[in-house]
Amino acid sequence: MRILITGGAGFIGSHLCDRLLADGHEVIAMDNLSTGNVDNIAHLAGHERFQFIKHDVTNYIFIKGELDAVLHLASLPSPVDYLNLPIQTLKVGALGTHKTLGLAMAKGARYLLASTSEVYGDPLVHPQHEDYWGNVNPVGPRGVYDESKRFAEALVMAYHNYHGVDTRIVRIFNTYGPRMRMDDGRVVPNFICQALRGEPLTVYDDGSRTRSFCYVSDLVEGMIRLLQSDEVTPVNIGNPDEMTILDFAHKVLELTGSDSPIEFVTPTDARTADDPKVRCPDIGKARRVLGWSPQVSLEEGLRRTIEYFRGKV
Ligand code: UDP
Repeated sequence: MRILITGGAGFIGSHLCDRLLADGHEVIAMDNLSTGNVDNIAHLAGHERFQFIKHDVTNYIFIKGELDAVLHLASLPSPVDYLNLPIQTLKVGALGTHKTLGLAMAKGARYLLASTSEVYGDPLVHPQHEDYWGNVNPVGPRGVYDESKRFAEALVMAYHNYHGVDTRIVRIFNTYGPRMRMDDGRVVPNFICQALRGEPLTVYDDGSRTRSFCYVSDLVEGMIRLLQSDEVTPVNIGNPDEMTILDFAHKVLELTGSDSPIEFVTPTDARTADDPKVRCPDIGKARRVLGWSPQVSLEEGLRRTIEYFRGKV
């Protein structure tokens, strides 16, 4: 297949490029490099089935030749990034999804939207299954990300129902691994880098919020299975191994062997406004429809991620 990946120089996009090239496909990575980084795909330069195009997907996209699939991953998924760049976040979810869907329609390509567990907002149903409609504050600081993805999902379904585009929607829960940005502000790079530097681990508020962390290779496997399946309605991909952020901080300390202290911090900016109190995917649908479940344990995934950051701090 000849596949376009928007956000191809980002954390997840670059892992998807690697996997699809290894599977024998031709890959075009597109990225405006606002948060993506060419270092993530530098090892692919000169690969005969790989091409990189620097382009902002909120503008018209021109691709020469045929395309079999369009995977729309371009986004600003870190709370710090979407708080800094709120309008770009809304544009890439809305205009970027529109442009990439138009491209998929013109090429007769299959389309996959990288959506998010944030469509569930601060959830009132736990764990979150795909039929839950969510609890999102549209005018809160997270609204720019959450609503752009909710709009994107609605647009994908409209292109599917009205234009017959062959579409897929994956709702990605917290994912981690090598190539996360050290400064993207999320808990995994923050805690690992703080631990490796011997600095205090910044646990926001009382650390009682929960998340469940999925290793990137598991996510990529789930996305590829979804792309190859016939499932048009959204599918959660995430690891249901839920823990509090305080427990996660202790796990990072244990695996890094760091003696950093834990510091309870109450951010005074918008970082923790509307921060979901709990999050855990119900992956029954992914198990049933895709035969998928995560294979990499938190210990193993964190060891690989810590090794990556050890070379950077
Ligand atoms: N968090 C924290 N310390 C940090 C960064 C994040 O306690 O240095 C918390 C944050 O408030 C949230 C959880 O960790 O409850 C996960 O945050 P992240 O930004 O990784 O992703 P989110 O799941 O909120 O999109």
